[in-house]
Amino acid sequence: MKINKEWHEKNKMPKNATFEQRAKWHMEHVKHCECRPVPEKLLAEMKEKHIKVE
Ligand SMILES: [Zn+2]
Repeated sequence: MKINKEWHEKNKMPKNATFEQRAKWHMEHVKHCECRPVPEKLLAEMKEKHIKVE
């Protein structure tokens, strides 16, 4: 799996991230890096809260 180290260096997931922070982080993450998919639990939660997934 490809990992975009540079992006990860610049975009660290905050400790104790809120749901919104995690959702945002993962939405950006999928655009720049392929090291891991958006967790299904998070995806489901995003759908419930009507947050658009691109
Ligand atoms: Zn990554």
